[in-house]
Amino acid sequence: MKTAEHASLAKEFIRDEARTDWHDETLWWIRQKRDKAVHNLPEWEQLRQWASEIKDHTLSNLHQYLLEFEQNAMANGVQVHWAIDGADHNRIIKAIADKHNAKKIVKSKSMLTEECHLNEYLIASGIEVIDTDLGERIVQLRHEPPSHIVLPAIHLKKQDVSETFHTHLGTEAGNNDPQYLAASARTHLRRKFLEADLAITGVNFAIAETGGVVVCTNEGNADMGAHAAPVHIACMGIEKIIPKASHLAVFTRLLARSATGQAITSYTSHFHRPRQGQEMHIIIVDNGRSRQLGRDDFRNSLKCIRCAACFNTCPVYRRSGGHSYHTAVAGPIGSILNPNLDMKANADLPFASTLCGSCTNVCPVKINIHEQLWKWRQVIAKEGYVAGSKKAGMKMMAYVLARPGVYRFAGSVARWSLRHFGFMAKIKSLNPWYRQREMPAAPKESFREWYVKNRKQ
Ligand code: SF4
Repeated sequence: MKTAEHASLAKEFIRDEARTDWHDETLWWIRQKRDKAVHNLPEWEQLRQWASEIKDHTLSNLHQYLLEFEQNAMANGVQVHWAIDGADHNRIIKAIADKHNAKKIVKSKSMLTEECHLNEYLIASGIEVIDTDLGERIVQLRHEPPSHIVLPAIHLKKQDVSETFHTHLGTEAGNNDPQYLAASARTHLRRKFLEADLAITGVNFAIAETGGVVVCTNEGNADMGAHAAPVHIACMGIEKIIPKASHLAVFTRLLARSATGQAITSYTSHFHRPRQGQEMHIIIVDNGRSRQLGRDDFRNSLKCIRCAACFNTCPVYRRSGGHSYHTAVAGPIGSILNPNLDMKANADLPFASTLCGSCTNVCPVKINIHEQLWKWRQVIAKEGYVAGSKKAGMKMMAYVLARPGVYRFAGSVARWSLRHFGFMAKIKSLNPWYRQREMPAAPKESFREWYVKNRKQ
């Protein structure tokens, strides 16, 4: 259900100008780290091309690879479940937890479980769920959703973390030392790992050929959970499949460089079978993905490997923060995936973009992100989810832009008005556009007039 639009939520975020600048600069710094890592790899474009082609092939034969994966995973002793949607996914996990009388669950980062609202569901059923990724634990303690798919607490400063830990973990008030805070979190989480009855992890890649899943983290928290608990559940969307183990290196080389500028994530862990005495489950979730697969214009979005490079480069994301997107997956790719899940509730998201194309340029699997955002705008307008005032404005704009004479006349009227009544445009209540901008001085003549006068000289 819709709560608020991106623009009004962004307004809240940018109220704190210093934080907005800092958020913008931090993400740009990560984008630059990505650029350095990419430029050190001469075969980068070749890797992107291969990744895109492997994903294209996989999506065209998805049913075949999913069945192959299921067969091989089961042969390895893993129990495989299929979930049609988020509610189904949550019910399956609850049934496994109930079977084992599990009351304490540790969970490593999984955007799929965020998408399915798993934590809320389990907590309402009386089960404790602890997010073990440091950033996710910080936002969980603050009762906030993650604001970024790789860096869930990127909207917070160390002072915020210190206050949160002081309130919830009893750390020293005012101690902002990152090493102290990280050590405190480690002590707190160690206990949770040892007490857990069940561990949930996400899946970065599922290999059809072997039936194994691969989980990439920088903290080793997925491994701690899955190795210590008597039950391990790995949750994956149907698009996580790759056909062969030999394809994996293409994606792992792209993923870490695109995400943080690292050559590889600190932990790239392979899970093939339960260890002795353990039970392992894999839940394969659709939740609207096969509907997206059937939309020709948006099918490619299922190639996404959730690196977040498109977030870090996006000028709108960097200056509006992840919570403005009011969905589990924010940023440019979230604005393509979420209208598929609920078009009406997420009709604002494809408009939260300048369509500059920077997202498309950095995407390691070559998703045409900005083109899909533009396509979504057309679908959303056609389905009637665009405000009447915006529609009327666009129609008028189209009329003017298609008629050079009308365009020239409108331009001269606008310049004259700005020269004589420009002060009115600066009244912020009359002109929302001016609120965050400087009004430019009106030129004496249009470029066309200047060009006609000067071209013969
Ligand atoms: S769309 Fe591309 S750049 Fe964005 S998260 Fe997915 S793989 Fe990364």
